[in-house]
Amino acid sequence: MSRVSDPTRRNEAAASFIGNCLLLGGIVAATLIYASGGGSSRSALLTSMLTNLVLVIGFHIFIGNTGVLSFGHLGLASISSYVMALLSIPLARKAVILTAKAPFGVRAVHLDARIASVVGIAVATLVSVLLGLVVARTSGLAATMITLALLFVVLQVADNWKDLTNGTGGLSSVPRLEGNAWPLAGAVAAVAAAVWFRTSKSGRLALATREDELAASAMGIDVFRPRLVAFVVSGAVVALGGVLQTQSIGSLGPRQFAFEPTILIMAMLVVGGMRTVTGAVIGTAFITFGKEIMRFLGDGPQFLGVRWPKVEGLPDLFLAAALLLVLLTRPGGLMNEFDVGALVRRLLERFRLGQPTSTAVVSDGHRLAPTDASLVADDVGITFGGFTAVDGVSFNVASGTIHGLIGPNGAGKTTVVNLLTGIYEPTRGRVTLGTSEVTGSPHVRARQGIARTFQNLRVFGSLPVRENIAVADLVATEYRPQRSGGPGVDELLALSGLSDLADRPASTLDYGNQRRLEIARAAALRPDFLLLDEPTSGMSETESLAMVDHVRKIASAIGAGVLVIDHDLGFITNICDRITVLDQGRVIAEGTPAEIQRDQRVIDAYLGSSAATSVDVPSDDQSSL
Ligand code: ADP
Ligand code: MG
Repeated sequence: MSRVSDPTRRNEAAASFIGNCLLLGGIVAATLIYASGGGSSRSALLTSMLTNLVLVIGFHIFIGNTGVLSFGHLGLASISSYVMALLSIPLARKAVILTAKAPFGVRAVHLDARIASVVGIAVATLVSVLLGLVVARTSGLAATMITLALLFVVLQVADNWKDLTNGTGGLSSVPRLEGNAWPLAGAVAAVAAAVWFRTSKSGRLALATREDELAASAMGIDVFRPRLVAFVVSGAVVALGGVLQTQSIGSLGPRQFAFEPTILIMAMLVVGGMRTVTGAVIGTAFITFGKEIMRFLGDGPQFLGVRWPKVEGLPDLFLAAALLLVLLTRPGGLMNEFDVGALVRRLLERFRLGQPTSTAVVSDGHRLAPTDASLVADDVGITFGGFTAVDGVSFNVASGTIHGLIGPNGAGKTTVVNLLTGIYEPTRGRVTLGTSEVTGSPHVRARQGIARTFQNLRVFGSLPVRENIAVADLVATEYRPQRSGGPGVDELLALSGLSDLADRPASTLDYGNQRRLEIARAAALRPDFLLLDEPTSGMSETESLAMVDHVRKIASAIGAGVLVIDHDLGFITNICDRITVLDQGRVIAEGTPAEIQRDQRVIDAYLGSSAATSVDVPSDDQSSL
C-alpha cells in the first residue's frame, strides 16, 4: 500500500524548521551588525524583535492554521507575565509594591525566575485550554469575540485588582534577562512548535477546516479537536512570548499586552502573511526594521547633506501604510503561502540529499470488497419555513450498486443529499445504513460510511492536490479501520489521472480535474456509500462519458455503493442500476433505467413535451450546496 508516509512529513517538518531557523539566523545577524553601530535603543531592537516574533508565531499557529481571527491572544501573554512576575519579584520589593491585603500569599512566595516562568506559562496554557473549549465550538465572528472578551477581562482584572497587580502602577523589579540568548531560544522554540503543529495530524485537519469547514465535516473531520489543539499550542507560545518580553523589559503593567501591542502583532502577521512561519518571521523583521528606519528619519537626521525636519509619529504612519499597501496589493501578505522549507527541500532534492517527497509506487491490486449494508431513506422530508422541499422520499441503495437520483432543477435532489449527510435534520422520516440509523452531525455520518461530493465544487483550494486526498485518508485510518486496505492516496491519484498534478494547489486545477479530485477525496474516506451531486454538471458530452467510466472505476475500487445525482438522463441511464425520479420534492418513479425511460409520469413531468432523453438544464442554482 502506498500511503503518504511519515518520512515525508518528517522531511517536510525538518526542511521547514531548518529553513526558517536559517532565515531567522540571517535576520539576527543583520540586526547585530546594525546594533553594533551603537546606541542602547539599537541593542534593544533585537530583543524586542525576537520577543515580538514569539508572539507573532503564536498568533500564526491559531489564526494561520484555522482561519479564525483572534484579537485576544495577548491576554494570555498578560496572564503568564503577571504570574511569572508575582512569583519572581524579590520579596523585599514586593513588600513595597503590594499591600498586606495581597491574595494567595504572593507577598511571601519567591521562586527562581526560570521556575516562575514555567509556572506562568503553565497557568496561561491552562487558561487557553478552558477558553479553547469554548472557542473551538464556535466559528467566525463568535470565536473572534470570545477571544476579544479575554483581552478585556484580563485588562480589567489587571487594572482593578490592585491588591494583586498594583493596578496601573504595575509591577517593577521583574528579574531581567541578560543578553539575547533566551529570546533567541524562545524564537527557535516557537518556530519548532509552529512547524510541528503544521505537520501534525491536528494541524493538517485544522488546515482542511480552514479551507472549507463544511467540506471538512463531510470528510469526517470534527472541527472541534484540531481547533482546540491549535488554540492551546498557540496559547502556550504566546504565553512564552509574554514572559520573555516582560523579562526583557523588567517591568509589567496592564497595558503592556493590551490593544496597541495587539495591533502591532497583527500588523506583523498580516504584512508577512499569516499562513506560514516564514510569513511570521518576515513580517516581524519587516515591521521592526521599517519602524526603526522611520524612527531615524522622524528624529530629524543630518542626511544627504541636509538637516531633515522632525516628524512625529512616523513609525505609526509607516505601520498603517504598510498594512494598507499589503492588504490592497497582496491580501495574503508578503509571503502568502510560501514557506522557506519548500526551498530547502528543493535544494536538498537537487543535491540528492533528501528523499523525493513523492513515493510513486502505484500498484493496481488494492480493492475493497463491498459491504453488505444498504443505504435506506425512509419517508424522509424537510420543510423550510412552510415550503416543503422534500416530501416523504423513500429509496433503497443496495450495496455495491449505482443508484441514480434525477429530477429537474429545484426538484429537491441536493436537499436529499443534505438530509442523508446531516447538513439538514429531516423534519420527518429516517435514514439507515445497514442495521443502524444514521443520525448526527455531518462528520459523524461521514465516519459511519457516507461520503459525498458537492454540486458546487468544494475542494480544499490552497492545499496541494495530494493533501486533499491524504486528509480524508487520515480520517479513514482512524475512524474506518473496518475498511482498511483498498487504494491508498497515490493509487487514488493515479486512478483519477491526478498524479502529475499532486503537488499543485487544488484551486489551480481545471474544472474536470477538481471534480475528479473531489471524488477521489470522498473515496479516500473508504465509505460504504458515495453520494455524488451532479458530477457531470458543466461538462461536455465526451467528458460526461469519461466521468461515467471514472465513477464506476472508483466505486468498484473502494467497494462502495453510489448515489449519483444528475439532471442528464443520458448520463444516468449509462451508469445506474436503478433510478429514483424526483419532482417537486416527491418520488414520481423508481426502477431500472429502461423502466424509467418508458415511464409515462417521467416523460410527462420530467422530460416535458420535448421527450428528449437528455435535458441539459444548466445547473445555475449556486445557492445550493
Ligand atoms: P435540486 O438539487 O434538485 O436542483 P435543491 O434540493 O437544491 O434542488 O432545492 C430544492 C428546493 O428546496 C428549491 O426550491 C430550493 O430553493 C429549496 N431549498 C433548498 N435548500 C433550502 C434552504 N436551506 N432554505 C430554503 N429553501 C431551500
Ligand atoms: Mg442540486
